Amino acid sequence: MKVSFPNMGFNRVGFKTFFECMGAEVIVPEPTNRNTLKFGVKHSPEFVCFPFKATLGDFKNALDQGADTLVMAIDCGPCRFGFYASVQERILRDLGYKDFRMVPLDQADLLEFKWVKTLFTTSAQKDLKMYANAAKAVIFLLKKSKLLEDIQTAEGIFRAYEQNQGDTTSVVDELLKKLDETNSLNGLRQFRSVIKEEFSKMDIDKKRKPLRVGLSGEIHITLEPYVNLDIRRKLGELGCEVHQSLSLYDWIMHKLHLNYHRKWLEHLSRPYVPMDIGGECVWVLGEYIYKAKAGFDGFIHQYPFTCMPEVTARTIITNKLKQMYDLPIIYFSFDEQSGVEGMRTRLEAFVDLMEGRREKLKKHEKLPGEYGNNFYHECIKLVQIG
Ligand code: SF4
Repeated sequence: MKVSFPNMGFNRVGFKTFFECMGAEVIVPEPTNRNTLKFGVKHSPEFVCFPFKATLGDFKNALDQGADTLVMAIDCGPCRFGFYASVQERILRDLGYKDFRMVPLDQADLLEFKWVKTLFTTSAQKDLKMYANAAKAVIFLLKKSKLLEDIQTAEGIFRAYEQNQGDTTSVVDELLKKLDETNSLNGLRQFRSVIKEEFSKMDIDKKRKPLRVGLSGEIHITLEPYVNLDIRRKLGELGCEVHQSLSLYDWIMHKLHLNYHRKWLEHLSRPYVPMDIGGECVWVLGEYIYKAKAGFDGFIHQYPFTCMPEVTARTIITNKLKQMYDLPIIYFSFDEQSGVEGMRTRLEAFVDLMEGRREKLKKHEKLPGEYGNNFYHECIKLVQIG
């Protein structure tokens, strides 16, 4: 059995380990690129969501590499995500890819444990060892996804202080390689120190007072750098600290009902949207309010063109929250027509606006002590004290 899955940025490292623990041979699709996207766009319904097109291209790439089992998350939620797997399967079969299985991974509520059955279908063994492997797969996925989140946190902070452009990206690439190769519990326990050690070696300018920008939006667009034109990196290179709490780990903990940060965001957004309407709408609103209250300089909301829940969030922020909280915001709607130069120009203008605002307010306050998790505070100590 050769198992594959669609790309979602860094998280390929976690998914790979997850299926390897089940004894499956894993085919990691090439990082999303021009060719895979071109295929996805050509063979998808024109007005389907952009992540559908990008992940269709990833699946074609995996099948061409020999994958025979494709795992795709499904949901019974209020938007189009629930139909991705079945429609993609139909398209691929119509195009002549007959010899594969599409395995739906039910993510609606992880505490219903429907995903366990999916996990077993990807297992090389069908005896008692399968249960031990499944437990190991879950533990390793949780640990690796948390470490990936920590790398993301450190990346968002350190890039704003780097002396030599590109150093942060090199450190991140090196850490991802190391994390991919770390397959022991002991190694994973020590890995947070490895992250701090690698970032501490960077040449940074501690005197800088970077702008602080919150970043949120639809999950695939936010986590996959090819489809968002690597917005985190561009923003960091313009001298901004990028704060993004959305990650694979954040999503898993939410689906296990253990994500208290998301519960807090739901509380903040409840007066405007009292229920989950799909995508990240509820949490984007919560993040906007949370970042505004914490004293951020700006906020970026990114989403796929035609994404109904995110467009709803945008409308509520524009018509209501912006007046109430006055946190500058810029929106990016991505699809296959999006271009880097247009995005860069808009980002530069946004950075100028945030700088002007900070100058006018004449303050660069510390974030409130309760803001951020422990690892965030450790990173801040490293860039400000050393
Ligand atoms: S969240 Fe948006 S992009 Fe994702 S499936 Fe729903 S409508 Fe499409």
